[in-house]
Amino acid sequence: MNIASTNANPRHAPSWYAASANDRRLRPILQGEMEADVCIIGAGFTGISAALELAERGFSVIMLEGERIGFGASGRNGGQIVNGYSRDLETIARRYGPEKAAKLAAMSLEGGNIIRERVAKYAIDCDLVDGGFFAAFTDKQVHEMAHHRAQWQARGHAGL
Ligand SMILES: Cc1cc2nc3c(=O)[nH]c(=O)nc-3n(C[C@H](O)[C@H](O)[C@H](O)COP(=O)(O)OP(=O)(O)OC[C@H]3O[C@@H](n4cnc5c(N)ncnc54)[C@H](O)[C@@H]3O)c2cc1C
Repeated sequence: MNIASTNANPRHAPSWYAASANDRRLRPILQGEMEADVCIIGAGFTGISAALELAERGFSVIMLEGERIGFGASGRNGGQIVNGYSRDLETIARRYGPEKAAKLAAMSLEGGNIIRERVAKYAIDCDLVDGGFFAAFTDKQVHEMAHHRAQWQARGHAGL
């Protein structure tokens, strides 16, 4: 896989994320012409993941980034593997059917597992630690949390 930048002076937002980044390598600037089976524009999680999937299957890939790897949301997010969508699974099941809700739950769990597998496979130095906590302040919130856990447990999330 070739990774090239279209920018001689790539930026990163001045932040804790930029200051604590483990990999600060600058990538070569795209020059002249290059050929590949697939060119992916944008080296965030989406682009990197697609590039990796393709490269692992034997395609030649060029990944082009306008700033630096992880310049966008991927380089300045909460860094948490949290299973969930903007609506709870019950709402999704009510609107789109239980099968779709189950598929979305499975997809969310699969996503976390892909991250864990890749961190191990490529020895990615990212301080990955499993676990986290959710806080509730009122009885109502405690009740909602228990309900949330039950929904995910029913769809295969054993560790919540
Ligand atoms: C504040 C915040 C907190 C978050 N917390 C979490 C979290 O805890 N857990 C979680 O799973 N998700 C979290 N997310 C969501 C997650 O970060 C995003 O869903 C994910 O990073 C999106 O990745 P992406 O590759 O699609 O986009 P991006 O990471 O934004 O990547 C797009 C890339 O494309 C490049 N680009 C754009 N246009 C061009 C062009 N024309 N030419 C070349 N390059 C170009 C950009 O420079 C950028 O690097 C959070 C998001 C935010 C904003």
